[in-house]
Order: sequence, then structure tokens, then C-alpha cells
Amino acid sequence: MAKVTEHIANSKGQPLFSIEIIPPVKGGKIDELLNDITPLMELKPKFVDVTYHREEYLSQTRDDGTVIQVKTRKRPGTVGICAALMHKFDTDPVPHVLCGGFTRDDTEDLLIDLNYLGIENVMALRGDHAKPFTSFKPRKGGHAYASELITQIREMNEGKYLHQTSEYLNNSDFCIGAAAYPEKHFEAESSRVDFEHLKQKVARGADYLVTQMFFDNRKYFDFVEKCRTHGINVPIIPGLKILSTKKQLEVLPRLFYLNIPEEFATAIRQCKDDKEVRKVGIEWCIRQCRELKAFGVPALHFYTMSKSTTTLAVAREVF
Ligand code: FAD
Repeated sequence: MAKVTEHIANSKGQPLFSIEIIPPVKGGKIDELLNDITPLMELKPKFVDVTYHREEYLSQTRDDGTVIQVKTRKRPGTVGICAALMHKFDTDPVPHVLCGGFTRDDTEDLLIDLNYLGIENVMALRGDHAKPFTSFKPRKGGHAYASELITQIREMNEGKYLHQTSEYLNNSDFCIGAAAYPEKHFEAESSRVDFEHLKQKVARGADYLVTQMFFDNRKYFDFVEKCRTHGINVPIIPGLKILSTKKQLEVLPRLFYLNIPEEFATAIRQCKDDKEVRKVGIEWCIRQCRELKAFGVPALHFYTMSKSTTTLAVAREVF
């Protein structure tokens, strides 16, 4: 097992192949997930991110007609999937750890489990608001921002636990990833303010960054240049999504606050069906990857949604 930053250091300047997967919907089979990603594992990703999905609140009508809100988690199982990945494949899992829905004590317990499992990497995120609410609210006793979560993880790495009840304080040694937004995080009032918050995450201990997806490499190149100019020197891993349905042309910009270059959007609009869209999406992503490789990125990180076909088609062309 190794840290993401160690994998990058050992890669001799060649970009690593890495992926992000999502847990199945509650009640799903882990074997199906593992089978779905097996073709990608043949390309030996050095690390695999596993997303975390916070609780949501659903309205349910009781027999007496009253409506109650029930708390449920649609995609549980992040930690179990990480353990299964370690057991079945030769790869380092990177569990995502959220502020949302967690108190500091919950976070500490989770980190202790991850540490005992021998997991060396975590991705520290704030997470979005719990559905159906429209704004993010931290739990009482939880973190409001990813930078605060990073501080807690860093302190545990220094052997500092909450409440210090034991004299046996073994430190963890997590490598910490954090999110970066070349096109600005949607809530931030300006790019300048968002960038200050990013600097704070790195100052507090983020060892590397993974970007939100983008379809215009210029956004990534400019962002990396800005980071380097302002003293952010940690590896910045580009996150890549292969556009594969016409609907995504409208959904992705709305959900992730990003721009799709006009040339690409026009090519997608001209497709007669989603089979053609996938072909165009794969070709666009191959072009992106080749340019990013030439730029010298530390890794090409694919948001796979736990499906392998399109990522495989791109990865075979670029690795
Ligand atoms: P933060 O860095 O805390 O920033 C959130 C907002 O607050 C930004 O607008 C920032 O500018 C602002 N801000 C930060 N610090 C301060 C401060 N001190 N004062 C005032 N404002 C501040 N979501 C999930 O639910 N599960 C996942 O597994 C998941 N994985 C992701 C992986 C990647 C690579 C990325 C890019 C995103 C992922 N997300 C995930 C989505 C992410 O949780 C959301 O984008 C969320 O809205 C922001 O998370 P963050 O960690 O970037 O937050």
C-alpha cells in the first residue's frame, strides 16, 4: 500500500491511470460493482477513489395520513468497497470523507477504521447539501468546510485525537487529497475568493488536488499556472468525464457549473443518437488526454460512475 503522492513520485514523469467509482444503490451487489470495474483494473490503476454519499431525507406518508421525513443513505458502503478493492485488486483505495452529515467524533471514528484497515489515502471534501434542502448546513459539532476537515486529519496524523482520553496516541499517516475547481466552485462569490479557500486547504495539509471535470483543457492549464504563481505546488490531478449522452450537454453544466466548448457541443448536437454521442465523447476525451499528457500531468483521473466501457476505450488509446 502506498500514498497517492508516492505513486506520483515513483511514476518517473509518466501520468498515472486512476479512476473514481461510486458505491451501488443500497441493496446492490458488491460482486456486480467489482465485475463492472474488472476490465479497468486490468490497466492497473495505482489508486481508485470511492465516493461517499451522505444521508438524504425522504417524505413518507404514514397509515394515518401524516407525512414524516425519513433519513436514508442511497449509496452506503464506501468503507466496505475500499476493503474489497484491497482484497481483490492490487490497488490503493481512496475513500472520500465528507464534512456533511458528520460530527467531528463521527469523523474520528471513521478515520480510525480506515487507519486500521491499512488505508493510506483519503479525499477530504465538504460534500453538498442534504436533499431536499438547498444549502449546506454542517452537523452540530461537525465541520463547515473541507479545510477544517483537513485540519482534523492532519492533527490525527500528528497523534492528536479529540478529547485525548488515552495515553496511547498512535498517529495515523494519511495522504490527503482535496477538490479544486478550475471553473470556480458554484457557491463562491468570485474566483479570487474561491482561490483563497483553495490556498487554505493546501496550507492546512492537502497533499494533492483533484479537479472537477472540465472539457476545455485551457481551463486546467490556466488554473495550474495560477496555482504555481501563487505558491500552490502540490500535484494537481485533472478529473475527466467522458460525455456519453445528449442529455449531459445540459445536465453537466447545470450540476457542476462548467462550460462545454462550442466546438464539442456542436458535434454532440449533430449526433443522431447516444451511440454516436459516446463515439464523439470518447474521441474528445482522447484528444484532451493526449494534450494533458504532453503538458505533464501527474495522473489522468476518470470519473467512471463504476462503468468501464468508455473509460477503457479512452485509456487504451492514451496509456
Ligand atoms: P470546500 O473546499 O469546503 O468549499 C466549499 C465552498 O465554500 C466553496 O465555494 C469555497 O469557496 C467556500 N469556502 C471554503 N472555505 C471557506 C471559508 N473558510 N469561509 C467561507 N467560504 C469558504 N461530493 C460528495 O458528496 N461525495 C463525494 O464523494 C464527492 N467527491 C468529489 C470529488 C471531487 C474530485 C470533486 C471535485 C468533488 C466531489 N464532491 C463530492 C462534490 C463536493 O463535495 C462539492 O463540490 C461541494 O460543494 C464542495 O466540496 P469542497 O470539498 O470543494 O468544499
